[in-house]
Amino acid sequence: MTEDLVRELELLREFGFTYLDIRGAPPTPAWQRPNAAEVGGAPLLSEFEAVVSTCEKCRLSKSRTQVVFGVGNPNADLMFIGEAPGRDEDLKGEPFVGRAGQLLTDIIKAMHLTREDVYIANVVKCRPPENRNPEQDELDACRPHIRRQIEIIQPRVIVTLGRFALQSLTEKAFSISDVRGKWIDYSGIRVMPTYHPAYLLRTPSAKKEVWEDMKKVMAELKL
Ligand code: URA
Ligand code: SF4
Repeated sequence: MTEDLVRELELLREFGFTYLDIRGAPPTPAWQRPNAAEVGGAPLLSEFEAVVSTCEKCRLSKSRTQVVFGVGNPNADLMFIGEAPGRDEDLKGEPFVGRAGQLLTDIIKAMHLTREDVYIANVVKCRPPENRNPEQDELDACRPHIRRQIEIIQPRVIVTLGRFALQSLTEKAFSISDVRGKWIDYSGIRVMPTYHPAYLLRTPSAKKEVWEDMKKVMAELKL
C-alpha cells in the first residue's frame, strides 16, 4: 500500500468511517456511456462471442461440434443473416463456408464487397442434427444472440436469407414470396428479405430476383 493511500485511510477513520465499500463505482447512467459505434464494436463483440461459445440454452448444444457465432467486420454497414450452420460450418466454426456459402460469397463479391467488409451470422448458432429445420423453441432460445449482435454491430442494412432468418429475427409470420425484395423495418434498421442461397442451388432461375434485391441494397449503401 502506498503511503498516500495509508494516510487517506487513516484520515477516513479519524472522520468516523469504520467500513469502506470497495465493490466498485456505481454504474454509469446509460446516457453518459459511449455507444458501441464510438468505442468500436470489436471488443464488445468478442466478449459476447466468448459468452455465447458456451451457451447451453437449447438441445442443439448437445449435438454441435462448436457454436458458430458469426464472422466479418464488427463495424459492418451490411449484415447477412442466415438460418443455421450445416455440417461444414459446424466443423469449421464459421457461417456459410459450404456450397451455399460459396454462392453467398459470390453474391457479396458481385456487390463489390468481400466477406471481410460485411458481417455474416445465423439466427440459430448451433447445427441442427441432419440439417433438419430449427424447431420453434430453438429459434426462441437463440433469438437474443442475433439481436444482441445486431445491437453491437449497428449495421445500416440487414439482408435476411430465407424464411427462418426473416421470421425469427422479426418474430412475424412473413411469407417470403410476399415480402421478398421489399424493404421492411427491424428496430429502425432497413431489412431486405431475399431467398436463401441453398434455394438458389436448387432453383438457379431465382438468382435473377436475388440480384434485383442486392441492387436495391447497393443503391441504399451507395456501393
Ligand atoms: N446455411 C445457413 O443458413 N447458414 C450457414 O451458415 C450455412 C448454410
Ligand atoms: Fe445456445 Fe443458440 Fe446454440 Fe441453442 S442454438 S445452444 S440457444 S447458441
